[in-house]
Amino acid sequence: MKKWGSAVLLAAAVMLSGCSNEKSENEKIEVVATYSIIYDLVKNVGGDKVEIHSLVPIGSNPHEYDPLPEDVMKATDADAVFYNGLNLEEGNSWFDKLMKSANKSGDDAPVYRVSEGVEAIHLESKGLEKQMDPHAWLDIRNGIKYVENIRDGLIEVDPDNKEYYKKNAAAYINELNALHEKTAAELEKIPKEKRILITSEGAFKYFGKAYQMETGYIWEINSDSQGSPQQIKSVVDYIGSTEVPALFVETSVDPRSMETVSKETGIPIKGKVFTDSLGKKGEDGDTYIEMMKWNNETIINGLQ
Ligand SMILES: [Zn+2]
Repeated sequence: MKKWGSAVLLAAAVMLSGCSNEKSENEKIEVVATYSIIYDLVKNVGGDKVEIHSLVPIGSNPHEYDPLPEDVMKATDADAVFYNGLNLEEGNSWFDKLMKSANKSGDDAPVYRVSEGVEAIHLESKGLEKQMDPHAWLDIRNGIKYVENIRDGLIEVDPDNKEYYKKNAAAYINELNALHEKTAAELEKIPKEKRILITSEGAFKYFGKAYQMETGYIWEINSDSQGSPQQIKSVVDYIGSTEVPALFVETSVDPRSMETVSKETGIPIKGKVFTDSLGKKGEDGDTYIEMMKWNNETIINGLQ
């Protein structure tokens, strides 16, 4: 009986201390990010002041998603939500619907588009010209804009930690600037006639523009029809008109279409690249910086 009594007392004490601790300065703000890349950028700025829930799982593409009940709960409770915009989270209107369910669709809701201020590139496929290409983060200078927008958003919802967010963002931006310079200098060394990046989805427009690479693809965007015989024929013809020595396949798409292209052209697939998702924690490309480094090394090695 005595044992039971002390267990109850102990539980009560833990609950009391738990409650009082939660109200202390250790309290974190709750943030939702739409996919793993934004998760990592927010983590770098927010550090230990934020608790982040990432919606689209690692390895899947964020163009389309079906939020789980847990996602609705987290989004409802969130102090801030960060999304890419530029037509990314719109495959099945999943993000708009989620924000409505989470009561965060009003103008003054703390929902931040991290691509704010990025110069958008439009799609080029017939009928899609009005849509914007979402993959702005593959130009590291845009990644820096994302970080600035995240910093400003966090400061708005949590002004007490303004200096902390500013300091983290500044240090991270320094790192990203250095990575951008290095990337540009390394890719420039690939001979011009081989500096062509062929992937399944046409995700590398911003990247190609930033780092002077020509780009080719089977389909233009993941929410579009994918890998039709016509699309395969079109990229096979394009490859035939170039001296490109290698093809690449993204970690977040089905590789079979690119395998067909490789068979038909006799050009090998020389590795995986990260576009719409980071790698799993502890594996290749598990942060934005690591994924960009990985892509550069893979592209440089493949196109030699
Ligand atoms: Zn994509």
